[in-house]
Amino acid sequence: MARQSGFPHPQITPQFDQCISQSRLGCQVGSKNLRITLILKIQGFYNRQVSFNSTQFVTQIREWARELGFSQIGVTGVDLSEAEAGLLDWLAKGFHGSMDYMAAHGLKRARPAELVPGTISVITASMNYLPLVTAEDWQAKELARLDKAEDAVISLYARGRDYHKVLRGRLSSLAQLMARHIGPLGYRVFTDSAPVMEAELAVRSGQGWRGKHTLVLNREAGSMFFLGEIYVNLDLPSSTAQSGHCGSCEACISICPTQAIVAPQRLDARRCISYLTIEHRGSIPAELRPQIGNRIYGCDDCQLVCPWNKYARRDALPDFDPREGLDDASLIALFGWSEEKFLQMTEGSAIRRIGHARWLRNIAVAMGNALRSLPRSDILAALEQRANHPDEVVREHVQWALAQASLHKP
Ligand code: SF4
Ligand code: SF4
Repeated sequence: MARQSGFPHPQITPQFDQCISQSRLGCQVGSKNLRITLILKIQGFYNRQVSFNSTQFVTQIREWARELGFSQIGVTGVDLSEAEAGLLDWLAKGFHGSMDYMAAHGLKRARPAELVPGTISVITASMNYLPLVTAEDWQAKELARLDKAEDAVISLYARGRDYHKVLRGRLSSLAQLMARHIGPLGYRVFTDSAPVMEAELAVRSGQGWRGKHTLVLNREAGSMFFLGEIYVNLDLPSSTAQSGHCGSCEACISICPTQAIVAPQRLDARRCISYLTIEHRGSIPAELRPQIGNRIYGCDDCQLVCPWNKYARRDALPDFDPREGLDDASLIALFGWSEEKFLQMTEGSAIRRIGHARWLRNIAVAMGNALRSLPRSDILAALEQRANHPDEVVREHVQWALAQASLHKP
C-alpha cells in the first residue's frame, strides 16, 4: 500500500505504543486497546540503505554527464577545513567588496555538510563554453578588439545563453538519472548560485589546478569552462587531484588592467573589472574607470593571455554561441538600446541580471574612455541624449564620460 501511495522502497515497521507494549497488563494482539504505529522509513537524505558499486556508479555518472554536454566529472569529500583560513582572511581583508552574500553564510561555504545536512560527497561537473565563432587565433582576435575603443567588449562566457540556466537544468537531469538508477537520492545542485567554494571543490575533485588568476584550469581545456556541483548523500570514491602547471609564468598577473590579482591565487575583487561591471552596484570608482577600457560586461584578459587556453575547447552545446551580435557590437549601438529593447535582446542571457541602468553605466564608462582617444561627435551626441537619465548613477557616469572629451589626445 505504501508503494502504491508513491513511497519508493518503503520499509514498514510496526511499533507498539510504548504504554501498552511495555505493560504486562491487559495487552493482547487484536485487543481494542492495542495501538500500533507504522514507522515508514523513506530512503532519502538521512536513511540510505541501498548497496551499490560506487566505482562503477561514478563511471556511469561520467557517461550520462557526457551525453548531457558536460566535459568532465570529478568527485570529492566534504572536508574543506584546510581552505577555511584562506577564506576567512580573504573576507577579513574586504576583498569581496560589496558581495555581502560571500560573508553572509560564514563557514558554511567551506562546510558542505553544514550547508546541506547529510551531504557525504560532492560531484563537480565542468562544461566548456568557448563559442563556435572564435577562430584558431581567438585569443589574439579578442585581445585586438580591446584596442578598438569604439567596440563594446563582452566577456566570452556571457555572449550566449545564461549558463546558470543551462547548467542547473543539466545538473538536475544528471541527479535524476542517478536517482532513477539507485533509488531515491538526497541531492542539491549548485552553479555559482549559493555559498559554495566552487573552485576549491573543483581542484580537490581533479577538475584542474588553481591558476594564479584564481580560476581553475587544466591541461586539456584551459580555463574556459563553467563549473557546477551536486551535493549528494552517497559515499563515492574521490577523484585524484591534478598538480599545478603555472610554473614561473605570471602573464595573468602582469596583464590585469587594474592589478586586481594582488598575489598568485589572490584576487581583490574590488579592483576586478568583472566585479565592477557585473556585481558592483552604484558608482564605479573614478580612479579605476580609465583601466576598464571598452570592457562593458566582464573581462577575459587574464584568460586570454594564459598559455593553457590554447587548449580551450568549443562548447558541446550551441547555447553559448553569441546571440544578437554581442561578439561584434559597437558602444553606440548598445548604448542606444531602450530598456524595453535591453530586456528583449538579453532574454535568457546572464547580462539581463544587471539591469538596464547598470548596462548604461558600464557603456558610458567605455564611451568616456573612447573619447580620450577618438574625436567622435556621434559618441558625444549619444552621451548627451542620456545626460538627463532618471537614474542618478547613469547621469553621473554620463557626465564623467562627457568630461573625458576634454582629455582627448590624438
Ligand atoms: S578578469 Fe580582468 S580585471 Fe579581473 S583579474 Fe582578470 S584581468 Fe584582472
Ligand atoms: S597565465 Fe600563467 S600564471 Fe596565469 S593561470 Fe595561466 S599559466 Fe598560470
